[in-house]
Amino acid sequence: MPQAIGPIPLPRAGERTTGTFTFAGDPGLAKYEWPYIAMAGHIAGPTVLITAGIHAAEYTGIEAAIRLGRTITPGAIRGTILIIPLLNRPGFYERSIYVNPEDGDNLNRLFPGKPDGTWGERFAHRLLTEVIVKCDHAIDLHAGDLVEDLVPFVIYRETGNGELDEKITRMANAYGAEWAVRSAPTGERPGQLFAVAAQSGVAAMLAESGGRGLLIEEDIIRHVRGVTNILKAIGVLSGDAAGAPPTVVKSFDWVRSPVQGMFHCSVRVGQKVSARQTLGEITDLVGEPIAAITASVGGVVLFTVTSPAIKKDGLLLAIGAL
Ligand SMILES: [Zn+2]
Repeated sequence: MPQAIGPIPLPRAGERTTGTFTFAGDPGLAKYEWPYIAMAGHIAGPTVLITAGIHAAEYTGIEAAIRLGRTITPGAIRGTILIIPLLNRPGFYERSIYVNPEDGDNLNRLFPGKPDGTWGERFAHRLLTEVIVKCDHAIDLHAGDLVEDLVPFVIYRETGNGELDEKITRMANAYGAEWAVRSAPTGERPGQLFAVAAQSGVAAMLAESGGRGLLIEEDIIRHVRGVTNILKAIGVLSGDAAGAPPTVVKSFDWVRSPVQGMFHCSVRVGQKVSARQTLGEITDLVGEPIAAITASVGGVVLFTVTSPAIKKDGLLLAIGAL
């Protein structure tokens, strides 16, 4: 088994280590330390990367990753588990929504990154080349952001490599979410960690649970149980994966506001809506309605924003088409 994954030293067989790492040689990156938890089994097996907090206020994922790191028994696993519970280290204590305060970019749009780019591009490049591609599987844990609510779902991307896609689908099915988004190879919203990892040959997926900046126990447990099921499905833990396969939506339609104003949302996450149904309205700051928001497709509401303060083109909600 390897002694290290990039800048992260691995423990001896049967042990767990915790610590921090950084990216040497880049002063902008090296002013931060990232936490990690690593464990190695007695028996050879796959290397699994569990990440969270690429969006720094998605606390359900961060807490679930930490909890998995503290509760899985190293002696019980086959292979190696590496957990990085907080990728957006600059954003955490700033309570950043969506973006990284170092450059104002969404870190989950910057992969594969660039060796000589912005802070986020350099971080993405170093994380991808030194850590992610050294792993066989990668699970990126998210939640609704500080101003978002959501119904649990998983996202994965097909690569066209049948063997890899079969592994990815097995992981996504094992998580136990009701809904799944399968993005096309040409995918909208490029540059996401899980998608670029999959294109790089890693069996990777993303899971969403919880939101609104709240640590709600059942949301955390859902992530912990979902990842545990995935670890069983890929043979890192023994036992049967209990999850039922999700319903795969036909598309993931993000609805944005044509104007700035106050959003009065009239649907809830998990609600089924039909095409042309009213989803809410935007009023100005003296209460005049200035835009009606309607569904372009029928489906299930996968997430909504919970803050009513909306800029022009600001995100309102997303529908998974059925
Ligand atoms: Zn996220």
